[in-house]
Amino acid sequence: MANIAFIGLGNMGGPMARNLLKAGHAVAVFDLSKPAVEALVGAGASAAESPAKAASAADVVVSMLPAGAHVKSVYAGEGGVIAAAPKGAILIDCSTIDVATAREVVGIAEAAGVNMVDAPVSGGVGGAEAATLTFMVGGSDAAFAKALPILEAMGKTIVHAGGAGNGQAAKICNNMLLGISMIGTCEAFALAEKLGLDAQKLFDISSKSSGQCWSMTTYCPVPGPVPTSPANRDYQPGFATAMMLKDLKLAQEAASKAGAAIPMGNQAASLYALFDGAGKSGVDFSGIINMLRGKM
Ligand code: NAD
Repeated sequence: MANIAFIGLGNMGGPMARNLLKAGHAVAVFDLSKPAVEALVGAGASAAESPAKAASAADVVVSMLPAGAHVKSVYAGEGGVIAAAPKGAILIDCSTIDVATAREVVGIAEAAGVNMVDAPVSGGVGGAEAATLTFMVGGSDAAFAKALPILEAMGKTIVHAGGAGNGQAAKICNNMLLGISMIGTCEAFALAEKLGLDAQKLFDISSKSSGQCWSMTTYCPVPGPVPTSPANRDYQPGFATAMMLKDLKLAQEAASKAGAAIPMGNQAASLYALFDGAGKSGVDFSGIINMLRGKM
């Protein structure tokens, strides 16, 4: 069993750290929020005074933080994890952040002789609680091999996506496609309504035809055809609009730096920004169908 430092104990990090405890690891935790730390100490973790203190005796450091600036300061800032961690440790950042910062921080760690991977997740809070997350991992073969047994205690599907930053690249490419396909699916159902075509009929036909996609068959944005989709519970998330907007902005940033054309991704980002700005940031991202219907 490993000595693990876990930094960032929010909606995702809290249950992920609990699963590491359940797997029998010793977990030292740090978060700026005292109640978040206390909850994990109640579950058997020890509290660390700082990220550096947590990392100094760790075989493994896992983080789950809001954005690139937090990741850079926790790892590479003054009193950061990279300077404190033992040389044989593996650092695993599971936050969703921009590709450029992920590559920069992994580069700083590797230059200091410490292995690091970026390992963003898909699966949300439910997946974090049930230890069924999908991890998309960027980093060297050696770093991936060290991270794998730890990730297996928190997730079900773990894919090595290539070198540093490729985990983040996979995450934003996937979520940009999801944002675009959700808007397309919503437009199809909203058009069907205006044309007098029953939603269930459209679903029965389209889910077996060339318009078929995950946004329709697993996450249908109208109530009825897929009883587990957020549309059946007044669009409670699920996957909140604010999260989708964050990922679309990361895709835009990456595309602009890489010189890639993403006209549909840009359009999706604009529409989700409008929906978010209309006070819907906490609404499931499939709720954008109501904006497209002109009914908010
Ligand atoms: P959250 O806001 O609930 O948790 C973030 C935690 O980080 C908070 O407890 C905060 O106090 C802590 N924190 C912030 N700065 C810190 C610092 N400098 N040092 C220590 N702790 C610090 O967010 P979340 O929903 O847990 O999301 C975390 C990450 O996971 C984000 O990057 C998000 O995009 C990604 N993600 C979230 C979901 C989801 O459904 N919530 C799904 C996939 C990916």
